Amino acid sequence: MSVLPRSVNRGSNVAQEKYADIREGVRSLCKEFPPEFWRKCDEEQRYPDEFLAALTHAGWLAALIPAEYGGAGLGLAEASVIMEEINRSGGNSGSCHGQMYNMGTVLRHGSEEQKRKYLPRIASGELRLQSMGVTEPTTGSDTTRLKTTAVRQGDRYVVNGQKVWLSRAQHSDLMILLARTTPLAEVKKKTDGMSVFLVDVHHALKNGLTLRPIRNMANHETNEAFFEDLVIPAENLIGEEGKGFRYILDGLNAERTLIAAECIGDGYWFVDKAAAYAKERVVFDRPIGQNQGIQFPIAQCQIEIQAADLMRWRACELFDRHEPCGAEANMAKYLAAKASWEAADVCLQTFGGFGFAAEYDVERKFRETRLYTVAPISTNLILSFVAEHVLGLPRSF
Ligand SMILES: Cc1cc2nc3c(=O)[nH]c(=O)nc-3n(C[C@H](O)[C@H](O)[C@H](O)COP(=O)(O)OP(=O)(O)OC[C@H]3O[C@@H](n4cnc5c(N)ncnc54)[C@H](O)[C@@H]3O)c2cc1C
Repeated sequence: MSVLPRSVNRGSNVAQEKYADIREGVRSLCKEFPPEFWRKCDEEQRYPDEFLAALTHAGWLAALIPAEYGGAGLGLAEASVIMEEINRSGGNSGSCHGQMYNMGTVLRHGSEEQKRKYLPRIASGELRLQSMGVTEPTTGSDTTRLKTTAVRQGDRYVVNGQKVWLSRAQHSDLMILLARTTPLAEVKKKTDGMSVFLVDVHHALKNGLTLRPIRNMANHETNEAFFEDLVIPAENLIGEEGKGFRYILDGLNAERTLIAAECIGDGYWFVDKAAAYAKERVVFDRPIGQNQGIQFPIAQCQIEIQAADLMRWRACELFDRHEPCGAEANMAKYLAAKASWEAADVCLQTFGGFGFAAEYDVERKFRETRLYTVAPISTNLILSFVAEHVLGLPRSF
C-alpha cells in the first residue's frame, strides 16, 4: 500500500484530504460492512468478527507494526486515517482499535525475543492483542493506587486482584496487564513499582482468570476481570519490573491520537448525515435545512470537527517525529471527543423523531461516540493534565 500523502478535493466536506490512497483502501473494505451490518451487530450485541477478520487480512490492523515483524511499518498519521475511515463509514472502530495501540507496548518495551515471538503472529492475525487491563473498580482514574498485585515466585508471578471495563477481552488472545509488583508503601514515587505483563487469555481463563461481561449502552464488549492466583511466567514481564506505569503512559499518546481520529470520523459522519437529511426533509413547504436554526448548528459542528482535525495532524506529526506530543495528543482527544459528541446531538436533533429510529443509525452512532469523553481518559483528567503540564498550575490530585 502506498503511504504517500496526497491532497484531493472532496467537495462537500473537507477541502483537502490527506492520505487518499489509504482512505480509498479502507473505504472500499468498509463498503462490504455497511451500516446494516453494524446495526445488526448492535441489535444482537455481538462482536463484529467478520469485520475484524477482513481488516486483519487486508493488513490494516498491522499498520503500526514494523515491516521486519510482518506489519506495514506505517506511522501514526496513516494509522489514524484507518481508524477515522472506519467510523466515517458508519462502523465502530471500538471493536478493533485496541490492537493498533496495545502492540506498541510490546514493540517499544518488549525484549527482542518477545517481539519476534508475538508481533509477526499479531500482524498475520493468528493472535489478537485487543485487550488492556488497567482500570480497577475501587480506584478508577487514580491508577497508581491500583490494587491488583503480581508477586514474583521464582520464575513466575502470581496475580491477584480485580479489573473493570476490560474491552474485547473475550475476543482477544493476549492481554496487556498492569499490576503492582512493589507495594505502594515501599516505593519512593507512587508511579514506581507497577509492572506490565503479557497475559495469554485462553490459558489464564482456565487458571485463575474469570471474565464477567458488563452490558453497556453501546455494542462495546466490556468485562469485569477477577484474578485469583493466576500464574504468569516471568518471561511474560514486559521491560523492567517496576517501570510498567511509564510504559503504559508511553502508549497513551498514540491511543489518544487514534481515538481523536475516530471521533473525527464520527463527527464527519454526523455532519454529512445531518446535512443530507436537512436538504431532503420538507416541513412547512421547505427543506428544514433552509432554516438557519437548522443550518447553524450543523455548520458549527463542521467548524469544530475541522479544528479538532488540525490538532490531530499536529499530534501525529510530533509523534511520528518521536518528539514530545503529550499536550497535543490530549488536546486532540479533548477537541475531537467534544466535537463528535456535539455533532451527534445536532444530528439527532436535525432528524427529529426519526433520529430515534434504529434504521437511520443516528441513535446507534450517538451512543457509540458518547464513550469518548469518558474513556480511555475522561475530559476532566485531560483538563488537569493541561493545567499542570502546559500551564504550570499546581497539581490538583
Ligand atoms: C466502554 C468502556 C470501555 C473501557 N475499556 C477499558 C479497557 O479496555 N481497559 C481499561 O483499563 N479501562 C477501560 N475503560 C475504563 C475507562 O478508562 C475509565 O472508565 C475512565 O478512565 C474513567 O475512569 P472511571 O470510570 O473509574 O471514573 P472515575 O475515576 O471514578 O471518575 C468519575 C468521574 O469523576 C471525574 N474525576 C475523577 N477524579 C477527578 C478529579 N481529581 N478532578 C476532576 N474530576 C475528577 C472523572 O473525570 C469522571 O468524569 C473503559 C470504560 C468504558 C466505559
